[in-house]
Amino acid sequence: MQTHIAPRFQNDPSVTEADAILRSCVHCGFCTATCPTYQILGNELDGPRGRIYLIKAFFAGAPATEHTLEHLDRCLTCRACETTCPSGVRYARLAEIGRAHLEAEVDRPALERVKRRLLRAIVPHPERFRLLVRLGNTFKPLLPGALARQIPTLPKPRLTAPQATVHTTRRVIALAGCVQSVMTPATGAALAQILGTLGVTVDMPASAGCCGALSLHLSAHSEAHDYMRRNIDAWWPLIEAGAEAILVSASGCGSMVKEYGEALQNDPDYAEKAARVAALACDPSEWLLERAGEIPFVAANRGTVAFHAPCSLQHAQRLQGGVETLLQQAGYRLTSVHDSHLCCGSAGSYSILQPMLSQLLRHQKLEALQAGQPDCIATANVGCQMHLQSGSETPVCHWLDLCADALAPVGGL
Ligand code: SF4
Ligand code: SF4
Repeated sequence: MQTHIAPRFQNDPSVTEADAILRSCVHCGFCTATCPTYQILGNELDGPRGRIYLIKAFFAGAPATEHTLEHLDRCLTCRACETTCPSGVRYARLAEIGRAHLEAEVDRPALERVKRRLLRAIVPHPERFRLLVRLGNTFKPLLPGALARQIPTLPKPRLTAPQATVHTTRRVIALAGCVQSVMTPATGAALAQILGTLGVTVDMPASAGCCGALSLHLSAHSEAHDYMRRNIDAWWPLIEAGAEAILVSASGCGSMVKEYGEALQNDPDYAEKAARVAALACDPSEWLLERAGEIPFVAANRGTVAFHAPCSLQHAQRLQGGVETLLQQAGYRLTSVHDSHLCCGSAGSYSILQPMLSQLLRHQKLEALQAGQPDCIATANVGCQMHLQSGSETPVCHWLDLCADALAPVGGL
């Protein structure tokens, strides 16, 4: 694609990066076929190619308008288009740069600004988020049904059978995260339980927290970078002491941590550390798959599971099939799920900022997941888990919970 960058952007390194991405697009339109918002809305401007044109026009000097921002806001950043693109166009990075520039020039309506501020002020802070969920549950009976159904319930503590632990000096770091630490703390416990059977100790420093993705997706880049630096500071002593990996069990956070190197590449104090952190980051499925033969699963037929692969796992991290292999090895039978490449509509804060599109996508996804009448739905990201559960009676859990349930208790069976 030929581009012309307006003089006012010509000394901006992020626009230079965007320009290189724009030039890699050859307009073929293959990506539109797998774009969830294009499939629903049928408008070229609500598909990746159209959004690329809008960003190109803006950097060429077209005025920033609410109309442009609206089409970019409707994008889930699910990255299905990147998986489909034969030219390797880095759409998500382009959208991130485009949004940040547009956000600085377009005035959002006051209510939108308040919503975005509140999300950033509450969600990355577990104590505030927990308090909000508690308040929501207290007043749930007074709220309209549709709103009440959106309020998640705080989990009960998970009771786990003690596991035989092999004692070695191997250590990994795990990220508790913000939303996951409040809503599904059992996932971190399940990971630690599985790793314990392999003789691996998990360090989860309390000073690490939100990965920064929420702020980044809301175009608050410097806030996101502060969260990243805070996490790097929390992990660095453990990395220097020999931690083998940083396991991130929420795939949305995992895809963010894997991009720390790129996000902080221009920070002279953190660029090198961020690149090292990114290289150590992995999804637990990647790490466990290499050691699958050593996990002491008890052989049993454990029922049927429909697996929802989050976009952050299959498109952003490009990990496909690993979780399914581990679940099968643990004794679960997987149902087939059509259109498994499509987003469930959770997409970080999207379910709050774009509720209609989000609910439509959830409805479609649940139809696909429930078609095989599974005993439960498993996924790999807390956001998808909560979003799907809010629309379904079928239990929705993290795949690590299922794997931990399949472990041999102390002394074997
Ligand atoms: S598939 Fe890739 S190259 Fe083709 S229009 Fe989409 S982004 Fe551009
Ligand atoms: S990231 Fe997802 S929603 Fe956005 S343009 Fe690409 S496929 Fe469409």
